[in-house]
Amino acid sequence: MAQIIILGTANAVPDKHHASTHLLVDAGEQVILVDCAGNPVVRLDQAGVDPLSITDLILTHFHPDHVSGVPLLLMDLWLMGRNKPLNVIGLDDVIDRTVKVMEIFNWKDWDGFYPVNFYRLPDGERMLLIDTDDVKVWASKGCHMVPSIGLRMQFPVGSLCYSSDTEPCDAIERLAEGVDVLIHESTGEGVGHSSPKQAGEVAQRAGVRKLVLIHYPTDIDVDEWVNQAKSTFSGEVVLATDLMNLSI
Ligand SMILES: [Zn+2]
Repeated sequence: MAQIIILGTANAVPDKHHASTHLLVDAGEQVILVDCAGNPVVRLDQAGVDPLSITDLILTHFHPDHVSGVPLLLMDLWLMGRNKPLNVIGLDDVIDRTVKVMEIFNWKDWDGFYPVNFYRLPDGERMLLIDTDDVKVWASKGCHMVPSIGLRMQFPVGSLCYSSDTEPCDAIERLAEGVDVLIHESTGEGVGHSSPKQAGEVAQRAGVRKLVLIHYPTDIDVDEWVNQAKSTFSGEVVLATDLMNLSI
């Protein structure tokens, strides 16, 4: 069984109850951190997850509220004594920028630093990026202000799709087709983002079982947000909360 731990739920501006959106997928041998806003070590500690267990870091897009914690995470793993390699996966442009940020910190001078393997995704749809017995992960480009990917994960039992930041987008809808759980952003209607109502429309057309709303403004009326999505989606709707655990 895979465990999905929601580490943060806020849009770009977090508060004491909502970190910026990032999540952890514990699929057994494969432990995947999706995005790295702020320093994820605190939330991982609260969730009872050893940061050293992370095998893969997937960066969905290069906006500060999704990647600004990367140098902190990489440094902390080093200080915690990590030896095993870490895979860092993202679009070509995202990896280029991540490497530049690490170079600003002169990370090549960090003595005894563990290996980091960068995997660069081309632009495209349904790109397979992880393929193990525990989990298969595919990515498709969404519709955002900068190049961004949504993710689909297939476990031995069950499936998940995470939209990351996107406005309603055909490629993400296809990616989500028939999954058990769709975690969809709900920043509000606007360029590059989606309202809960629009997230519900995507969930309905994709035929998913359960919709989890994430990446929302912290001052929302929870019932209103959920009801908006329920007005367009006939399945179960929940609002993600920090440290929520979804078992698939
Ligand atoms: Zn964004």
